[in-house]
Amino acid sequence: MSVLSLGRRVDVHVHLSRYWPDLPRNSYRSDLEFTVPSLLRELDSQAIGFAVLLQLFLNPSPAEVLREGEEMFTKSGGRLLKTVTVDPTKGEAAVEETLSTWERVRDLVAVKLYPGYRTFYPHDPRLSPVYEFAHKREIPVMIHQGDTLDPNGQVKYARPIEVDEVAVRYRDVRFVLCHFGNPWIEETAEVVYKNSNVYTDTSGLLGNPAAPYFREQLRRAQRRLTNAIAAMGDARRVLYGSDWPLESIETAIGVVTGLDLPAEDKELILGENARTLFRIDAPG
Ligand SMILES: [Zn+2]
Repeated sequence: MSVLSLGRRVDVHVHLSRYWPDLPRNSYRSDLEFTVPSLLRELDSQAIGFAVLLQLFLNPSPAEVLREGEEMFTKSGGRLLKTVTVDPTKGEAAVEETLSTWERVRDLVAVKLYPGYRTFYPHDPRLSPVYEFAHKREIPVMIHQGDTLDPNGQVKYARPIEVDEVAVRYRDVRFVLCHFGNPWIEETAEVVYKNSNVYTDTSGLLGNPAAPYFREQLRRAQRRLTNAIAAMGDARRVLYGSDWPLESIETAIGVVTGLDLPAEDKELILGENARTLFRIDAPG
């Protein structure tokens, strides 16, 4: 398939890794295949050209993160974009070593952090070299926010308000509050409204469509997102994402298409905002 025939939409939040053994238990459908072709089929069914493949903190080494990302990028014909992750609780030397492996890779599109799953705040001083790297490369830092799938996570580390300090300190770095900060959706709206370098994504708000209360949860999520975006007064820093395979691409697209917003704002959310943020249309 030529790149020109791909859909304009972009999914900013998908996962696919052999280092996430829990996937079958948590995915939106128990018989789902965790393969590149299976993911691309879902993306194509919703006219999505590219997806940002977010690496997991469970990966055994920084080098393996890069190797696996490269493998998915190649297998997808360049449609699953490459990211990296780092866990600052492993210490300053480990962070430095991780960063030195990133130096070799030219086409990274984002850094992903997992506060909440791991016990650190986004303003942890051990992350300073990570934010400096993002600044130098001009790539956004995507930060897990809100509820953790793992009950051993500690959600106090994953509140949107905790990102405000670094958003102020690193004005040249763009930050993405993942999952719209759910359940702190209003708090996310404030941090995005106040800081022009902060964005949010719509991923992972729903799960299995056969679960009890799914339709009510969908309507509730759409009401809350519509209100939050109205409070922000601007849809240009809202990004569509799914969190596949935890949520189907069809469900995730439906969250956005059902928002009570002007059609042109929904098109921004579904792809145009991400194309600008991740420089998807930039030559080279
Ligand atoms: Zn995710």
